[in-house]
Amino acid sequence: MNKKDMANLKKILVQKKAELLNKVKNVQMEIGAKGYENSGDEIDTASQSSDKEMFFELAAADKITMSAIDESIAKIEKGIYGKCECCGQDISPKRLMAIPWGRYCIQCQEEAEKPRK
Ligand SMILES: [Zn+2]
Repeated sequence: MNKKDMANLKKILVQKKAELLNKVKNVQMEIGAKGYENSGDEIDTASQSSDKEMFFELAAADKITMSAIDESIAKIEKGIYGKCECCGQDISPKRLMAIPWGRYCIQCQEEAEKPRK
């Protein structure tokens, strides 16, 4: 992978992280506003709590992505970006363009996703 691709990917990573941070903040605000409007209503309190659950699930997934993004940015800075964390092989640039925060090469990813017997 050349320096230009690397710089591009870093830009994508930084952007994606900002996007996720914004998304989490927006959902948080929305839930906060709803909680205020609906306070005291039993039915709405129930739907509010499922909203919150959904938010926490969402936030958990986004947090995982965000930390993977952070790690990828750190790796770019250290000059070790683009290697599979499992087997140490180069991850294909095509794969990195699709998921710049991916940690594993396609073989290891497929291996990890295979249903265990
Ligand atoms: Zn691998």
